[in-house]
Amino acid sequence: MTKYNNSTSHRGHNARTPGAAGNGLREHEVAQTIHEKFIKVTKAVDCTDDAGTTANANLVNIVAKMNRVGISFHVSHHLNAFNGQANGFEVWYFAGNETARKLAQAICDEVCKATGWVNRGAKATTSLYVIRASVGTAVLIEWGFIDSKRDMDILSGKMDDAVNAALKAMGYSASSGGSNNGGGSTVTTPTPQPTPSPTPTPSPTQPTQLAVDGSLGPLTARRWQEVTKMQIRDGRISHQWRQAQNQNIHAAVFDKTLIGSNLIRDTQRRLGIKQDGLCGPQTITAMQRAKGTTADGFISAPQSQLVMAIQQDLNAGRSPF
Ligand SMILES: [Zn+2]
Repeated sequence: MTKYNNSTSHRGHNARTPGAAGNGLREHEVAQTIHEKFIKVTKAVDCTDDAGTTANANLVNIVAKMNRVGISFHVSHHLNAFNGQANGFEVWYFAGNETARKLAQAICDEVCKATGWVNRGAKATTSLYVIRASVGTAVLIEWGFIDSKRDMDILSGKMDDAVNAALKAMGYSASSGGSNNGGGSTVTTPTPQPTPSPTPTPSPTQPTQLAVDGSLGPLTARRWQEVTKMQIRDGRISHQWRQAQNQNIHAAVFDKTLIGSNLIRDTQRRLGIKQDGLCGPQTITAMQRAKGTTADGFISAPQSQLVMAIQQDLNAGRSPF
């Protein structure tokens, strides 16, 4: 079973800007209970926001907290509402992020099996703010419809079963009671985001062997910069334009400048393609073709075959392209 290290968790909304209501329940209060059970086991950082006084401010504050942690898998807890009749369980993920889709579907399947909820399945989005604006991979869980009596009867009777099933889908075994390595055979290690400053200085005499983990984090980026003799070796892939295809490049710094990165420009020169410094789908596809990995234009998480091939080259001291 894949282990998805849960780095942050939060409940949506707050008392100043509450979400949905129904059956005498309020969304942020129910989601809080679930969120607390979640972080008790996963030890994820709590990114809940109680300060925002508008829905927008609440979302911005939550995502700012998520991006300060900036690693691996984020979970957002919500409840749906519609017309009192609609019911069931669903999980949202960023469209095109295959790892997120698999995780979202696994959570749906496990939770619905454990509770008898109607399985509405994994749902793709490019518009939900906590998913679109956060670094790493975020899933947003709708724990049933708060205005459905059927759903809330299930949730009140089986909340622990539901939470444990979701944790199981993420690779945490319920019985592990908070162990960070709950029985999964594949451990997905979160890759830290580059910190703004100061940049740790690599030892020039002892090039470290990279873990071939398929995750393009700061260590891999810095080694890549060293091997290709870039002037700046800061472990960052600067000024990238965020897209679904490159959002899993943990070493990337996203902004709207379109300036691009010198490392990517150098790579594009080596590949004989347009040198704009932006690691978008065309550049990713060209790198994949050059390395003979699946040419889908996406850097997948937690493990990209392309990045693994790059890491192998870097460990051998050669430029990947
Ligand atoms: Zn909500």
